[in-house]
Order: sequence, then structure tokens, then C-alpha cells
Amino acid sequence: LPPAVICIGMAGSGKTTFMQRLNAHLHSAHEPPYIINLDPAVRTLPFSSNIDIRDSVNYRQVMSSYNLGPNGGIMTSLNLFATKIDQVVSILETRSKSHEISRILIDTPGQIECFVWSASGAILTDAIASTFPTVVAYVIDTPRTTSPATFMANMLYACSILYKTKLPMILVFNKTDAQDATFAKEWMTDFEAFQAALRESEDGNEEGVGGSGYMASLLNSMSLMLDEFYNHLDVVAVSAMTGQGIDEFFEAVQKKVVEYEKDYKPEMEMLR
Ligand code: GDP
Ligand code: MG
Repeated sequence: LPPAVICIGMAGSGKTTFMQRLNAHLHSAHEPPYIINLDPAVRTLPFSSNIDIRDSVNYRQVMSSYNLGPNGGIMTSLNLFATKIDQVVSILETRSKSHEISRILIDTPGQIECFVWSASGAILTDAIASTFPTVVAYVIDTPRTTSPATFMANMLYACSILYKTKLPMILVFNKTDAQDATFAKEWMTDFEAFQAALRESEDGNEEGVGGSGYMASLLNSMSLMLDEFYNHLDVVAVSAMTGQGIDEFFEAVQKKVVEYEKDYKPEMEMLR
């Protein structure tokens, strides 16, 4: 069965652009993917999708007829779409049995919390992950995560998504054409380097992070937790804009598919 890649990330991190790059890459390798768009609020997509939530629900109409704001509109649209997930999965099964598709790529709403923390987001994810080897690509806006405090917040968010979805995860440091991601890899492997950066940055005030304050002890406990979290991840640096690092991303997906079969699938079956 083809692997499914679910792109998750903060608004503006580059999920859609990354999808476009993966799509172009696979097409030029003559391994066309199957593309699903789950963002009801997106105006135009830079790629053509095979299944588009916008074809079955009208986001603007949902907002006005249920008197909802933007996030409520997205969540209600996802709820409506979730009622059709069985049909979606059976289409995917048919397509993959005839070997027409090499990968399934899934774009999610710009507002990360609408998908990750909603019941319908979980239903959609579980339905796909119980049939196909599924991997979460957590897309990060590298230029906007160079401050140690922002970095830590982003890693904790990724960690919470790992525990929520229980799926193998790849951290995708995007926009490396604008900002190199070496600093991030260093902070993930050497916590002392991270602490030093925090101490130097304006985020950490001298008293707090330096030695004895509550921030110092909080950070030390978090380092143990994050260390364990980092052990479960693959990290790739990419530019969705230039295509740099895309091969490494697909290698990481292959690796995570093996993990899915070995660790995640048996556990999921046990829980069911
Ligand atoms: P989404 O909300 O996560 O789907 O983000 P988008 O794909 O819409 O991208 C948000 C913004 O980031 C757009 O202006 C993109 O052009 C820009 N962007 C996305 N990927 C890259 C990249 O690799 N490099 C640079 N420099 N900009 C990028
Ligand atoms: Mg998008």
C-alpha cells in the first residue's frame, strides 16, 4: 500500500507550498501521488488535488448559515466532510490496488488547532492511518523559529501532536533558502548548546535561565522530556521554494513507514 503523508504545521509554515513541491517532484519521477486537500478555507491551490474538501462543503456558506467565525467554519466543514471519510478511504483503496498512485499526500487547514484538536481531525487521521502506512510531516517555519523560546514552544507543540496522533513523525524545517537549519539540529542534539543560546538571547533574562530561577529548573526537566521526544523523530531541512532536501524527506518517509509497520500498526490494532 502507498504511504500517506499528512502535512501539519502552524499557519504560514509552508504546508501548501511543500505539498506543491512534493507533487512536482513525484510527477517528474513518474510516480504520481494522490492528493487530498482538507483545507476548506484555502482560496486557490498551487496544485491540482484529486479529492478536495471544497468540492463537498462550501466554507463561506457554512459560516453564514451556522453563524460561525473562521475557525468554527473550518471545524464544521471538517465535521461535514468526516461523514464521507469511508467513501474517501474506499476510493484510495481502489486506486492503490491498481497501482496508480505512489503516495497519498494530505494538506490540512492553515489553522493547525482546527485539525489537530478537533474530533473530526482525529476521525479523518485515524481512518487513513488504519488503512495506509501514515506519517505526519510537521512543517516548521525555520526563519521564524530561530529564537530559543519560540523553538522550544514549537517543539512542545510537535510533541503534543505526536502524542495525540500516535503516528510516526518527521520534523520538516522549511524555508532553508532563507534560513539555514543547522542551529535547530544542534539544539536538538546538544541541550547545553540550546541552554547557552537561551541564556544569550533576550528571551531568557539573566536571573531566570542562568542558574537557579524557576526557568532553569523548568528547562532542565523539559530537556529530559524533549530528549526522549527527539529520539523518536527524523529531522530534515528543506526548502519548499527551491526543492532542496526533498530527496532526504522521501528517504525519511521510507524509514518511518518501516517504523509504522513495526511499532505503530500493532499498537493501533491493540487499541481498537
Ligand atoms: P501554509 O499556511 O502552511 O499552507 O503556508 P503556505 O504554503 O501558504 O506558505 C506561506 C508563505 O510562506 C507563502 O508566502 C510562501 O511563499 C512562503 N514559503 C513557503 N515555503 C517557503 C520556502 O521554502 N522558502 C521561502 N522563502 N518561503 C516559503
Ligand atoms: Mg495552506
